[in-house]
Amino acid sequence: LVAIVTGGASGIGAATVTLLRARGATAVSLDISGGDVMCDVSDTAQVAAAVAEVIARHGALDIVVNNAGIGASGTIEDPDLDEWRRLFEVNVLGAVRMSNAALPWLTASPHASIVNTASVAADTGLVMRAAYSASKGAITSLTRSMAADFIPLGIRVNAVAPGTAATPWVARLLDKSDDPELALQKLTARQPIGRLITAEEIAYGIAYLASPLSASTTGTVLPIDGGLHSLR
Ligand code: NAD
Repeated sequence: LVAIVTGGASGIGAATVTLLRARGATAVSLDISGGDVMCDVSDTAQVAAAVAEVIARHGALDIVVNNAGIGASGTIEDPDLDEWRRLFEVNVLGAVRMSNAALPWLTASPHASIVNTASVAADTGLVMRAAYSASKGAITSLTRSMAADFIPLGIRVNAVAPGTAATPWVARLLDKSDDPELALQKLTARQPIGRLITAEEIAYGIAYLASPLSASTTGTVLPIDGGLHSLR
């Protein structure tokens, strides 16, 4: 199977590329830097060109992992609307663009699967994450809607909803705080299992949803969050 993983050069995406390859897939990472194919998912022409390049190289496309994402901190007090727009361009419309460009190839695949990376922030109110949470809520809703639309095309659509994961993303977040050690302690304490999620644990969930082994699973959002959403 041939797979595209957006944001595949770092963190969860990179772990997914490694795991899909270990399991025998041809996985191509698309990223704004460091991927196999350069692609900014907020640019429609770049997305079309990247899909064309994957098809030219590998002749098919069976799996799309819409994982590229960016974060933002803040409330809706004094919102930076340009930042909101940028977040939605990447986190939401990026998945729309990529899935749309891949559609003809996915339709032709006997094992077509789209996996979106949502977040625990979609269904759990977290402070200072208004724009980010809204973008991930959109991804969760989009996942279900696309799953319904594409049943006739034989394309499954699912998502994972990670809790706080130990990736370069969270490292950057901690670097920005006044006391990174205390901030890490707080993030860890928020996780019912008492530790951050690993990128590999999320990759296993993505690989399951991407695989024909989950052929009866569509329209689901799989929490991989150490219990953050559901447990007290
Ligand atoms: P990361 O920063 O390590 O990796 C994200 C990758 O996406 C980077 O390689 C980056 O270059 C790429 N990217 C950013 N903008 C892009 C664009 N416009 N086009 C193409 N690629 C782009 O982050 P991560 O923690 O691995 O996050 C991956 C996904 O997981 C994101 O969608 C994020 O929202 C989600 N997520 C992360 C966590 C967490 O705690 N780390 C929790 C829940 C959800």
